[in-house]
Amino acid sequence: MSDWVDVQLRRRGITDERVLDAMTRVPRELFVPPESRELAYDDAALRLPFGQTISQPYVVAVLLQALRLTGAERVLDVGTGSGYQAALLRTLAAGVVSVERIAALAVQARANLAAAGLADVEVLVGDGSLGVPGRAPFDAIAVAAAAPSIPRPLLEQLAPGGRMVLPVRDRLVLVSGSKVTTLLPARFVPLVVGFPPREPST
Ligand code: SAH
Repeated sequence: MSDWVDVQLRRRGITDERVLDAMTRVPRELFVPPESRELAYDDAALRLPFGQTISQPYVVAVLLQALRLTGAERVLDVGTGSGYQAALLRTLAAGVVSVERIAALAVQARANLAAAGLADVEVLVGDGSLGVPGRAPFDAIAVAAAAPSIPRPLLEQLAPGGRMVLPVRDRLVLVSGSKVTTLLPARFVPLVVGFPPREPST
């Protein structure tokens, strides 16, 4: 386990060895913009273009641990951003479809994922609050942008027994069956609905 994973994650209560191993193996520096590269292992969210952010590693680890991935799952990732969370999900599951509404971020995320050797993550451009109906159901759904309430299409696209983690207003919550549990208070960029007004596409 690398030092930063030990200090920032394990000692703060992340216990899932697969998550700790994935966070050790996926190099965050490949996903942060060049000007922030020396901050890649800081315990902080970092700026992406277009006013977006790459989430704080600890918050991503909490999200990943709550999903309890075993390696066999088909996962939907909403809000690709840099592609970092999608890369971790791919390391922990069988397949990842990730949706980003800003096309230029999707282009950069594909390049980042390819540099990390994870080019089979499918990055689509569209409104991820609609999910990806053509690819549903998903065993797990991870959302990186905050909505005022749980988007119904995402609930509908979750497989029976599936788990979803998403920020609702100022809390990161886990949805499992009919249960909604708060994982931690967290600030995320807003989930912007309704644009682009079309189904996710490549
Ligand atoms: N998971 C990302 C975090 C990116 S921040 C990472 O690891 O880097 C959240 C992202 O969600 C932003 O890139 C933003 O453009 C995107 N987003 C906001 N609303 C969206 C929507 N409705 N559909 C898809 N992406 C959305």
